[in-house]
Amino acid sequence: MGIFDFLKKSKPNKCKECGDFIQSEFEICFECNKVKKPKWFDGKWYDEGADVTNPYTFKKYKLSPAELSIYDFIIGSSMSVNSEEPDKIVEKAIEWFKEKNPEAYTNCVLPYIT
Ligand SMILES: [Zn+2]
Repeated sequence: MGIFDFLKKSKPNKCKECGDFIQSEFEICFECNKVKKPKWFDGKWYDEGADVTNPYTFKKYKLSPAELSIYDFIIGSSMSVNSEEPDKIVEKAIEWFKEKNPEAYTNCVLPYIT
């Protein structure tokens, strides 16, 4: 029984994105969480993430700051009838989100854009 036995027992937590060791309460390390703003994106870029809700099941999905920024942009464009945003940028945003967070895309983006 060594003094470091407790370290061996606790399962090391690795960042889902890069594999770096991180504090156990996080899934993604700070660096990976801070996804850089895509060049084509000209909307608001948030520093903090938030939960978004499926409008039918009310199930919540956690979004990273980058995901939330893109999410708000997509939803905003889908809601404004006389959108001045070029469709191509909205399409890019949708593709970006689908790739980064397929689950939240299906549950919290698709209901608004179809
Ligand atoms: Zn990472």
